[in-house]
Amino acid sequence: MYRKTEAHINLDAIRSNFALACSLAPQSKSLAVIKANAYGHGMLRVAEALQDVAPAFAVATIDEALELRKAGINNALLVLQGVTTAAACNTAASNNLTLVVHTPEQVEGLIEAGVSVPVWLKIDTGMHRLGLAPGDFADARKRLAAGGIDVQVACTHFACADELDGDATRQQLESFNAATSDLDLPRSIANSAGVLAWPESHAQWNRPGYMLYGSSPFAVDVVTARELRPAMTLRSEIIAIRAVPTGESVGYGARWTAERPSIIGTVAIGYADGYPRHAQNGTPTLVNGKLAPLAGTVSMDAITVDLTGHDNARVGDSVELWGSGIAVNAVAAAAGTIGYQLLTGVSSRVPRTYF
Ligand SMILES: *Cc1c(COP(=O)(O)O)cnc(C)c1O
Repeated sequence: MYRKTEAHINLDAIRSNFALACSLAPQSKSLAVIKANAYGHGMLRVAEALQDVAPAFAVATIDEALELRKAGINNALLVLQGVTTAAACNTAASNNLTLVVHTPEQVEGLIEAGVSVPVWLKIDTGMHRLGLAPGDFADARKRLAAGGIDVQVACTHFACADELDGDATRQQLESFNAATSDLDLPRSIANSAGVLAWPESHAQWNRPGYMLYGSSPFAVDVVTARELRPAMTLRSEIIAIRAVPTGESVGYGARWTAERPSIIGTVAIGYADGYPRHAQNGTPTLVNGKLAPLAGTVSMDAITVDLTGHDNARVGDSVELWGSGIAVNAVAAAAGTIGYQLLTGVSSRVPRTYF
């Protein structure tokens, strides 16, 4: 690669964030959620970095799980969306996968496929996206058992755990406890926000994802999240510099206009790389460690930043878009989205480099 746009991935930071998730919940086992290419960080590299410390990994799809198996990852693998066809049930069984079962159709499909796979049975406690109604859980478990299928864990997922006030999370916990506290069954509730801020949600298995990559799922300061270390630094370089007189505009739609004689730097990264097109004027970038606000609409392959006052900026200088100097959450906020979307959206055009 000759273009100097890349995502530096610090695997050590991911290991340290995983250790933090474990230490916050010493009574729980933590699986590492590495779906969506490990939130953009490279699923295989992250799996290799965690395979000796994570008792299990979670992915969204069976295809992600198969990619891990093909690469020789032998840890337990949980498929969060489960499967929908008999062929996939068989493939799951022969690859030693664990399936989340969240609909009555999946219950019946597994029984009909006649294969024996370990199952996490999911309850919808209020998010209303995936999961059986709490009242249907016991019967589904019985039917699966009769079909030779072992329910290993009862699980649910939070809708609002990143909001620290409000009743939604407490209500979900109550609903889950009511449905499962009498069962002699391990349970799993907590995502990153649960791990960091809801100790009452720590169960036999926790499922941290986003926090492993070093950012906080919260918009507010949460003490337990302060030790997280951002794992990805997205970098590029300045490829052009020009003086722009007062009153002249920059970029598509002329959405930024110089209010003073300005120096504009063009940086080799755009929305085709995953830099968010909706990032507003003023979104922070770092040039030689100094703040350079976005100036003008994000293009496909380039952005423009205001270098006025950067006396030494030159073509070829390194630019940080997010990472240890600029929180991905800050860029996301300036683009009307969340850090999860930015990390998972770094495109395949951007090489990942590891250290
Ligand atoms: C993605 C996902 C997680 C991880 O959530 P984070 O907010 O990234 O920690 C946990 N559980 C389920 C079911 C998920 O889909």
